Amino acid sequence: MADISCDIVVIGAGVLGLSVAAELTARGHAMCVVDPGRQNASSVAAGMIAPAFESQLDGADAARAALLRHAAGLWPAFAGRSGLVLERTPAEWRGSDAKAVAETLTGLGFSVQADGDVVRAEGDVRIDAEAALARLRSGLGAAFVGAEARSVERAPEGWRVETTAGRVEARQLIIATGAAAALAGLPEAVTDIINRIEPIAGQIGRTEASLTDRVVRGVGGYVTPARAGSLIGATMVRGSRETASDPAASARLAEVAARLSGLAAPETIEWRGGVRGATSDGLPLAGPVGDGLHLALAPRRNGWLLGPLVGRIVADGIERRPRGAHAAALDPLRFSLPGG
Ligand SMILES: Cc1cc2nc3c(=O)[nH]c(=O)nc-3n(C[C@H](O)[C@H](O)[C@H](O)COP(=O)(O)OP(=O)(O)OC[C@H]3O[C@@H](n4cnc5c(N)ncnc54)[C@H](O)[C@@H]3O)c2cc1C
Repeated sequence: MADISCDIVVIGAGVLGLSVAAELTARGHAMCVVDPGRQNASSVAAGMIAPAFESQLDGADAARAALLRHAAGLWPAFAGRSGLVLERTPAEWRGSDAKAVAETLTGLGFSVQADGDVVRAEGDVRIDAEAALARLRSGLGAAFVGAEARSVERAPEGWRVETTAGRVEARQLIIATGAAAALAGLPEAVTDIINRIEPIAGQIGRTEASLTDRVVRGVGGYVTPARAGSLIGATMVRGSRETASDPAASARLAEVAARLSGLAAPETIEWRGGVRGATSDGLPLAGPVGDGLHLALAPRRNGWLLGPLVGRIVADGIERRPRGAHAAALDPLRFSLPGG
């Protein structure tokens, strides 16, 4: 690759890097995206855009629930602009705790229907994560550099990125490298923020057999429809970067899928793994950290749900617009500020 230059370079093409790139492209910026193109957390994800049941699972308070609801509300327009298909598959919680779940969600302002052991959340939807990632990438019109960034350095006009395929120069640099360690050459304070991100490994299974026509969640996991067959998820192993499946966890998840679907556990399940990045308050790092450097990192188990919100916040930071809704809660410097 010959050395290239662009207005803004994003390192990392998971859902956050691509959501930011899509937002900035739509605003007329010339973008480059650097990524080696391996399987990542975004490509293995179940693609649930689920503010209600994620609020339930995380014991969210009203403010957190409102943030997740706001993020989900950005999806229809984002999907429309980006040529993505939102699947309005019904989403249910099943279990003897259904009544309590319905009460919690109603108290948080979600619209739910409860019937015996089943709660249906009307605003929770899905996307085919792998297809959406491919569509986002091909629809960008950005220069895509299929390489790994080795290091970055400040240049007179912005930032220089050394990749395994050559050099990229840009006025502004966005780091969207998932749960990876900080790249060499970043300022010390930014390195410190990135290296405090906790990796959380997760495994998810894919079956050829169709186990469900809707998203069904409950204690211990979920089963969802997929393009061909179903998905069974997922584990959360804090502090781990292991992407190989664990036989004990596989057996546990297969049992959960059988319980939630009411069918026998499938004989063949293909397991995949991904590593989510998380901050100590569970919200991403999105926005400027100074010197033309911006972060789009650590959305924990809600990278798909939060992608368009992170895209909007980072783009506003690049354009130096006033902060929009929820930008302060995602400020990447919030842990470095007094009291943070
Ligand atoms: C099993 C599982 C199920 C999930 N289900 C859901 C769900 O239903 N709904 C939901 O909202 N979220 C879900 N998530 C969470 C979601 O997948 C993550 O929050 C999200 O994918 C994180 O996106 P990201 O862009 O930050 O990171 P990633 O997807 O990991 O992308 C980071 C990218 O950076 C690149 N990169 C790293 N270092 C470099 C470098 N030096 N040079 C160039 N590129 C680099 C990597 O190659 C990678 O492509 C799930 C996660 C898992 C693991």
